[in-house]
Parts: sequence; C-alpha cells; structure tokens
Amino acid sequence: MKKLLATIIKEAIRRKCKSPEDFEKLKKEISKRFKTATPRNADIKRFGLEEFQELHSRKEKAEPWKNFEKIIKSKKVRTFSGVAVVAVLTKPYPCRGKCLYCPTEAEIPKSYLSNEPAVMRAVSVKFNPYQQVQKRLRALEINGHDTSKIELIIMGGTFSDLPRKYQYWFVKECYRAANDYPTSRLGNSVSKLTKEQKRNEKAKHRIVGLTLETRPDTLDGKEIESYRELGCTRVEIGVQSIYDDVLEKNRRGHSVEQTVKATKLLKDAGFKVSYHLMPGLWGSNFKKDIEMFQIIFSDSRFQPDLVKIYPCVVTQNSVLYNLWKKKKYKPLTNQQTEKLIIAIKKIIPPYVRISRLIRDIPDTSIVAGPNISNLRQIIQNKGINCQCIRCREVRGSYTNQEKITLRKIDYDASDGKEIFLEYCSPDHKKLYSMLRLRITSSFRRPTSKKNKRLSFGISERTAIIREVHTYGKLVPIGAREKKSPQHAGLGKKLIKRAEQIAKEEFGCQKIAVIAGIGVREYYRKLGYRLQDTYMVKKL
Ligand code: SF4
Ligand SMILES: [Zn+2]
Repeated sequence: MKKLLATIIKEAIRRKCKSPEDFEKLKKEISKRFKTATPRNADIKRFGLEEFQELHSRKEKAEPWKNFEKIIKSKKVRTFSGVAVVAVLTKPYPCRGKCLYCPTEAEIPKSYLSNEPAVMRAVSVKFNPYQQVQKRLRALEINGHDTSKIELIIMGGTFSDLPRKYQYWFVKECYRAANDYPTSRLGNSVSKLTKEQKRNEKAKHRIVGLTLETRPDTLDGKEIESYRELGCTRVEIGVQSIYDDVLEKNRRGHSVEQTVKATKLLKDAGFKVSYHLMPGLWGSNFKKDIEMFQIIFSDSRFQPDLVKIYPCVVTQNSVLYNLWKKKKYKPLTNQQTEKLIIAIKKIIPPYVRISRLIRDIPDTSIVAGPNISNLRQIIQNKGINCQCIRCREVRGSYTNQEKITLRKIDYDASDGKEIFLEYCSPDHKKLYSMLRLRITSSFRRPTSKKNKRLSFGISERTAIIREVHTYGKLVPIGAREKKSPQHAGLGKKLIKRAEQIAKEEFGCQKIAVIAGIGVREYYRKLGYRLQDTYMVKKL
C-alpha cells in the first residue's frame, strides 16, 4: 500500500497533474498496475503529509507539492451529484427501538458512534443545528465547492420519536443558518419555520432537498403531513429485513407489513423512499439475504428508490456483542459480504440508487463483522457492471457534443404506477438527468380535514413528480457551464414529458411536485403554483 501511495504522489508531481479528473485517471492507472483498489484521496493526502515531510518543506519542492495538494484536497464527488450534501445530527434522545445490534453510547444519538466524522462535528457544537449547517457550508466552500443548492440530511436515529417542538425548532434553525450564511446570527431566534422557509425560496443558499430518517412504524397520515410541513422530500426508513422472524429475533419491534404500509404512504405523498437494509442479521443467512434483495427489487410492495446497505457488525456497546461473545451469533465475513454485494449489483434495477454500500464505521469500533471500507472500489476493479443510478451518474466528464437519448421505464410499485424517465447515453451507461413520476391508483380523497391536505384537491388518480435530478458538476443557480448538463434544460424537458404522460396516458387533470423549499421558484417559472405544501399545475 505504501509503495502504491508513494508512486501515485511522485507521478502526480512529475506529470504536473492539473485537475482532479487528471488525478483520478492517474490513480486508476497506477492502481491497476499494482493490481489493487484505487485509494481514497484522504489516504493519499495523509500518507503524503507524513512521508513527504522533507519534500514539501524544502523550498524548491514546495511549489509542486502545493499544486498537488490543491488537486487532492477537494472531494469533488460531493458536488458531482449536483447538490452540496450537508448532514447534521439531532441531539441524543430515546428511541422506541430495542434493536440488538444498536450501539448505545452515553451522550451520543442511538445507533451512532462517537468517532464517526459527522458525530464528531455535531458534538463539537453541542448538536446545535445552526452551527452545524454553517460550519459544513464553510468547510465545503473552503474545499472549493459551490453551496448554492443544498441537500440537507438530518440524522440522529428515529426522527419521529423526537418531541414535535424540538423537530420544528431544529429544522427551522437549519433553514435560518442557510439563509443567514455567510453571516452568522447565533443565539435565540424568534422567527418561525414558515418565515424561514419563505426566505429560503429566494436565498443564496437554498435547501433543495430535506431527508429525514425514521422507523417504518412511526409513519401515518399525520406524521407524513408534518414531514411535509418541515419541507421533507426524502425519507430513509430502517427496514433492515423483510422477514418477520428475523425482525423479531433482533427485537426491531416492527413488522414487514408496517414497512409495506409506510412505503405506500410515503410514495403516494410523493416522497422519495430510501431503505436501510442490514444483511447478516442474527437469524438470517447468506442465501436468505440474497433472496431478500431479489424480492425487494421485484415485489411491488417494496421497490424503494434508494438503498443503503449496512451489513450487520458487532460493536462494543450493543446487546449483540454478548451474543457474539457466547458464540451464538456469527456475522458475515468480508468475503461473504463481497460476494453478496456483487450479487446485489447484478440484480439492481436502473431506477434504484445504491447510496451506501457499507456504513462508514471506524475500523477500530468494529469488534466483529465485515470491515472493508473501500468495497466500492474493490468491486469496480473487478469489472462488475452495476446499472444503479449512482454508478451511472455523469460526473465531471460531460461535453455538449455527447449523444443523449430518452429512456422510459414503467413498473408497478405500492399499488401505483411508476414511470421512470431518464436522459442517458445510447448504451444507458451514463446518466445525465432523471425523473420519477407516480400515478397513484387507490388514493381516495381523504375524509378527515387534516389528511385533506395531501390530496392537492385531486381525488382518485394523482400524478405526482417525486424527483427530478440532473447530474454532473454543480452549477450555481442561474449560471451555465459547458461541461455540465445542469441547466442545459434536461430537467425541464423531462418535466414536460411527464406532464404529457400524466395527461395523455392516464387522463390526469392536475400534476403535483414534491419540491424542496429551495426549488419552488423554479417550478413557479414553469407554471406551477404552491398548493398546501406541493407545487401544482393544471394539465
Ligand atoms: S430503531 Fe435505530 S436507533 Fe432505535 S434502537 Fe433500533 S437501531 Fe437503534
Ligand atoms: Zn451501482
């Protein structure tokens, strides 16, 4: 490994690598020569700083080193998905779950570990949401990222189990932090959530998506309505397993049926649904785990839009630790995990995004279980062709001359019809832009006054756009760049096509979009009007 890192650094300096893209190419080329996975920039940098002390302290060598540092310091990948990701944590609070594998540390939100980077950042500001957001924006900007479009992710365990007042305050403070940035107005603010949201519609740093994480059994109509009020657009649910016996054995405290119901409720209300899945649980086995993924991507009761795969690991502060000590539980091995992930990659549909392959738990905290952190690279180097969204997202490599085709994929999901539209290369391997349109079939006009808000004045058949995303380098709002497909009108074209499909194929008279607060202006320009918490247009 040391030899590999040293060779990469020396070659990058010798060849006068100019851009992160050049550096990526060089990394791949040298790693291939060494027949090993491509190392992460962070590791290269750390190694370089330690081993090349004299190199970058000697005056005549300082310049090339500085240039090299500039290239590797930015984790460009973060803004290649089109938005700047800002992850914040809520304060520690009891969760209704009693999951065997859940690490429980004092003063740390359940299921998190004190040495995880996001946790350390949150602890340093005592979980203050305002400071967390502003600190993150600053750090991203220092690394050369544009932060005008923010995907805010609120972590910290089961969001729905937090007191309502705290939830609203926390989210309001996140909007306020983005609105004020780069100015900082810390301290007690009396402003209201709706006011800060309104401000954010036209702010310089707009929150274009808000993700919350929760358990499937916490979701009902009322909860969903509250999520909408907060401006939430994506929900990550802790599904973990689709076998009731496994859920029970691990004391998850909810059933598969509850996952199915939550999935439908969320999709019908337009949310993007992300599943957290945990292969290797006590009571499961390799065969059962593979079967689980086959079912999830073929059974219309599931069909999530995104998945995070967190193979079960044993950590010190969990009940599972005792079971493992008594030799009652055996986690997956690294080899099994690799095999499992390869199998999943072969069956994943093109409309699903694998956002995480393995949780970023620091190696030192894993007592037993898979601990390979560069799994993605290992698999990439094996030449496995994954057709998931993430593997196809165009990054920095787009030129205006590239051929783009429109592909439409229809599938059934949670009693509705999903229409997935994408602009991609003719071989479907490069993804430029995508849209999720849902036609709900069994959604009746709710009778209760509260639930009525979710109906957008439409009964029976609702056409709802759940996601529009254009990939490539983040382009600031209102700007254009030759190398990025953002703002090249692909999103608009997809929306037009979705409107056509809703009207002509399904006879819908209205279409709704679950738009993040920061994207409302964009839809207004396309003729949409705010109705309750959705952007709606007559067809
Ligand atoms: S639901 Fe999540 S946070 Fe709650 S106990 Fe289970 S794993 Fe931990
Ligand atoms: Zn993939």
